[in-house]
Amino acid sequence: MTSPTLAVGIDLGGTQVRAALIDAQGALLARAATRTDIAGGPRAVLRQIEGLYAEVGRGVDPAALAGLGVSAPGPLDSETGVVLGIPTLPGWVDIPIVAWLHEALRVPVTLENDGVAAAIGEWHFGAGRGLSDFVYVTVSTGIGGGVIADGRVLRGRRRLAAHLGHMTTAPEGEVCLCGNRGCWEAQASGTAFGDRARRLAALAPDSALHALGAAVDAQRVIDAARGGDALAGQLVAHEAELLGIGIVSLLHLFSPQAVVIGGGVSAGFDLLHPGIQAQVQARAMPPFREVPVVAAQLGPNSGLVGAACLVLPRAT
Ligand SMILES: [Zn+2]
Repeated sequence: MTSPTLAVGIDLGGTQVRAALIDAQGALLARAATRTDIAGGPRAVLRQIEGLYAEVGRGVDPAALAGLGVSAPGPLDSETGVVLGIPTLPGWVDIPIVAWLHEALRVPVTLENDGVAAAIGEWHFGAGRGLSDFVYVTVSTGIGGGVIADGRVLRGRRRLAAHLGHMTTAPEGEVCLCGNRGCWEAQASGTAFGDRARRLAALAPDSALHALGAAVDAQRVIDAARGGDALAGQLVAHEAELLGIGIVSLLHLFSPQAVVIGGGVSAGFDLLHPGIQAQVQARAMPPFREVPVVAAQLGPNSGLVGAACLVLPRAT
């Protein structure tokens, strides 16, 4: 009997549920997505996942399929397979999603925090390939990530390690969704970046962002900065500074061989990189200053690929 060489990754998000069939080389052989049925609650989303699993696995020999890996926003307990609470999905409190899916599909199922899953994806098939130590940071609606240390995934107590976005970087800063003040996420996420840009654009009639009003978001600031808009350029420089401050702490904490940046805001990585590097040079202790900060390579698929890796018969 041949061992399975394929797995399905699911990325459960507040907007979309995405699925992909992945092979042992990390290639996406089939993919499907649907809008998350938020109003329907966990049971409805479970049925959506079952449907997506069937769709991407159509025509595949069941003996070749290792199972299903689910990437979801935390906090969650990846050991017991229980979602503890997803702020963007009402009703998702203490949901035993692994048990439910296993009962429905009768295949091995794993659950992983989306930041950690994305780190695993980048580790096996992206910017972290071949490294024993790196930190993956996703900067989008929030800030999350995962840490690979000494050649393994850093898990911590209750497997809750690497909630990177909730380290305090500004004690008097913005209030975070977690309730704390001044979390890195509250200062430097794509959401915070967009909020700051909207406030300043409203006061700057000379900026191309001014006319966009409430539509100003991180992506539009990046686009305007590329077009040479002065305010957008300043906003990008400030965002890079805020990201750099957090990254310097990650260098000191984990001594990685690289810091890998993914998530929506990494669309502006080339613009942000000089400002991030300036913070590293200014704030990191000398032995840490040579560590490269690089862009993720799998784009929006890091989490999907990483989730599938968790059930593929190779060690993570
Ligand atoms: Zn927080």
